[in-house]
Amino acid sequence: MWGCLSSDVSFDITSYLQSFHRSATDAGFFSESMAVIGGYSLPAYTRILDGAPKVYLSSGMHGDEPAGVIAMLELLRSGFFGDGVEWRICPVINPTGIAMGLRENAQGVDLNRDYLKKMTGEVSAHVAWLEKQPVPEMFISLHEDWESTGFYLYEIQKKGYPSAARSILNAAAKEILTEPCRFIDDHQVREPGWIFHEPRADFPDQWPEAIYMAEQGTRVSYTLETPSSLALERRVACHMLAVRTAVEEFLLTRGKVNGCNGTA
Ligand SMILES: [Zn+2]
Repeated sequence: MWGCLSSDVSFDITSYLQSFHRSATDAGFFSESMAVIGGYSLPAYTRILDGAPKVYLSSGMHGDEPAGVIAMLELLRSGFFGDGVEWRICPVINPTGIAMGLRENAQGVDLNRDYLKKMTGEVSAHVAWLEKQPVPEMFISLHEDWESTGFYLYEIQKKGYPSAARSILNAAAKEILTEPCRFIDDHQVREPGWIFHEPRADFPDQWPEAIYMAEQGTRVSYTLETPSSLALERRVACHMLAVRTAVEEFLLTRGKVNGCNGTA
């Protein structure tokens, strides 16, 4: 259904997992399998760098949202995950959903509503892994939306950092215009494309990953959303621009905030 998604990777989940593993280990990442789900590994990649800011990224939570998954591999291949940051990456949270082209996993569960109860094998293994990691300062999750016509993001702040939202939206707009609706997914935007979300779940017993990360103490998170109706290549490129800008802005802001506090 997704056809050829980049120059040399067709989106077969098995070959994707192999390609990501090969590129990540070549780039010096430590590889772990959090679980085996439906015959597929649930991979996590880490590159420790003492004293560096900790950034965590995830994709592939919803199996019908391929752009973020592809963008993560393309960012890796481009050398984006370089020095200066301690990276953690979970590129495929929902391998059975990806294999079937479904939002939910093979059992029909939306994994991004399971981060409180942790009923699924995927999320319980993922949380068990996250609990062994230091809390990242920044979290970025890559998603897509079948209903939107433009790019938008959710921002969750725990520490009052200057927002990178405008910079991310401006960068993303080079590829995909900002979603114009004043209400997106039942949330009123702060500015076009920018949902500033409280660090609380919309439904108290249905936590998405971003709420779990905020509860753990992650200072700032961005959930990036590209519109599924546009060409996949543009959505992948848009995610790459947005991730690059989010991290660059975070590192700039972090330096200023830490400098002001004298804690650098
Ligand atoms: Zn999603």
